[in-house]
Amino acid sequence: MPLRLIIFDFDGTLTDIGREGDQFEAAYEGMVLRIFGQDRREAWRTAIAGVRADAPELGWDMGSGAAAPGDADPYIAATLALGRFCTELDLPTLSGEDPKARKTRGELGGALYQAAYGALHPAFREDTVRVLEAAMAAVPFVRVVTNSSTAKVTEKLRPLGLSRPIGVAGDARKFEISEPTTQGFGIGGVGSVWQVPGLRRPIQPRRGRYFDVLADVWRDTGTTPQETLVVGDIVELDLVLPGLLGASVHYVARERTHSYESAILRAFGEKATMGRALSDVLTRLG
Ligand SMILES: [Mg+2]
Repeated sequence: MPLRLIIFDFDGTLTDIGREGDQFEAAYEGMVLRIFGQDRREAWRTAIAGVRADAPELGWDMGSGAAAPGDADPYIAATLALGRFCTELDLPTLSGEDPKARKTRGELGGALYQAAYGALHPAFREDTVRVLEAAMAAVPFVRVVTNSSTAKVTEKLRPLGLSRPIGVAGDARKFEISEPTTQGFGIGGVGSVWQVPGLRRPIQPRRGRYFDVLADVWRDTGTTPQETLVVGDIVELDLVLPGLLGASVHYVARERTHSYESAILRAFGEKATMGRALSDVLTRLG
């Protein structure tokens, strides 16, 4: 079936996570040290290294279950590291599994994330403009679906000077494991757990909010999952749900791709492709 819709993830897919990540990590670490003391640098870096070492079994969990590998990007890794760091500090208001401490830690993490993310200068990939223009020339509909806010991403895309604006659907909360509020598009056939080789914890594909956002795009454009290509840099977060719904998927490979991510792509067969450069997706456009 010919493609009629291409959906891009934003952070790490259209942006250069290497350059952005460095800015983000420095800003985040700076704030952590200002809050907890400049002598905590080593403890902070140990926490970050621990997260990287324990991923992907260590998953990013925003309260509904593990949703992505803990090292999937610097934003996720910092959020997880903060939890470990606070537990190491053994502060009663921030440490351990007490619900109040978890909540306070979550709020602190949210505030630090917003501040560090908000301060960074967006760094796009060198081929982002070329790929977006080629996508718009190849299919009738191109959209960005992202966990970031619609307004912020729309604002970040503006300086690219694209020949026409691209619709952004933000706040997709792809990490939220929940039931969708709408039906259709094959969601009934998507199971709640998927055990894949190379990962002991199960994948949880039912991302209710992400599905609702995708379903809105399909309704708005009059397209189907089978006519859609989804492009993302985190297999578990961006590609598993649309892939199981019948969409084609393209993985823009991170530097460290886990074996279970490759196993998922193999399970999708010919519908799945991957490449290190964003422009590798152009081979899908014929
Ligand atoms: Mg991403």
